Amino acid sequence: LYNMVQDLKGNIRVYCRIRPIFNAEAKDVVDFIGEDGSLVIVDPSKPHRDGRKVFRFNRVFGPLATQDDLYMDTQPLIRSVMDGYNVCIFAYGQTGSGKTHTMSGISGELTKDMGINYSALNDLFELSNRRKDNITYDIHVQMVEIYNEQVRDLLAEDSAASRYPLKWIILCTSDGGLSLPDATMHSVKSTADVVNLMKLGDMNRVVSSTALNNRSSRSHSVLTVHVQGKDVSGSILRSCLHLVDLAGSERVDKSEVTGERLKEAQYINRSLSCLGDVITALAQKNSHVPYRNSKLTLLLQDSLGGNAKTLMLAHVNPERDSFGESMSTLKFAQRVSTV
Ligand code: ADP
Ligand code: MG
Repeated sequence: LYNMVQDLKGNIRVYCRIRPIFNAEAKDVVDFIGEDGSLVIVDPSKPHRDGRKVFRFNRVFGPLATQDDLYMDTQPLIRSVMDGYNVCIFAYGQTGSGKTHTMSGISGELTKDMGINYSALNDLFELSNRRKDNITYDIHVQMVEIYNEQVRDLLAEDSAASRYPLKWIILCTSDGGLSLPDATMHSVKSTADVVNLMKLGDMNRVVSSTALNNRSSRSHSVLTVHVQGKDVSGSILRSCLHLVDLAGSERVDKSEVTGERLKEAQYINRSLSCLGDVITALAQKNSHVPYRNSKLTLLLQDSLGGNAKTLMLAHVNPERDSFGESMSTLKFAQRVSTV
């Protein structure tokens, strides 16, 4: 049933999440959020009729929406992984717009308000347990970081290993092979296993960045969940779920940054626009999909397109000062949306 409902909706979905305003003085540019997935944003320099822009997505979550509200609308997608579908969920938006909050929530602490990464794995464990008389599931996770087009293993047990870029391995599949970074694969059986691994991931992320260069907002982090199910007849179902916390999408002013920061910014811009190109090509059913143009799209290839289901979570900081970035996030999201 989950898949029937999802199939009717198409394979690319876009949700938008508006973060709360924390500074009481800040002005809010989001004027209206509709039940039907529409939102109205007002240009603060043109607070008249011509400054109002309407966007429409599959769903819009306002500042009061909880993690559980968001998860309710994500759950069917997650559950379809257990039926053999590949799924990719990625958080897009400028730094500070709430991507990490949505994906990993309060890291390490299990509360009711946990992010999608934890809720998703909990759900997979629960389903696996519920079906255990008919299907035996094995769940493994990998977590990598992509920074300046280099992929690093965030779950390497030897933390020094997380400093070095990974080699890619080519897996031969029926449809012509798939390249994967050679990252450590961990078997997980419980939420506690996942929490421990996320701690290791956070630690390695710190190790791999230099003291003055906390780069978590300038790298993409990808948590991949591999699911293998074996039924009583011995037939095997394989699928994967990619949970992606993208680098901040903000444009940097080329006149203000130089050196490493400029290089980082260029790598981020390029990989985010490659991701946009891939999804647009898929949405338009183009015959050529440019997966090979970035490590990110190469890595996500098996869960973008084909039978795979993709969910983009566009994040918006509704404060007046972020209006320009919010507009470009909404336009990007609109471009990949098929609504
Ligand atoms: P990003 O990962 O996009 O840079 P974060 O997730 O780190 O942004 O969010 C920035 C800050 O705002 C964090 O302190 C986070 O806890 C808080 N925050 C973001 N979204 C929400 C939300 N929906 N509800 C409550 N706090 C939020
Ligand atoms: Mg973040």
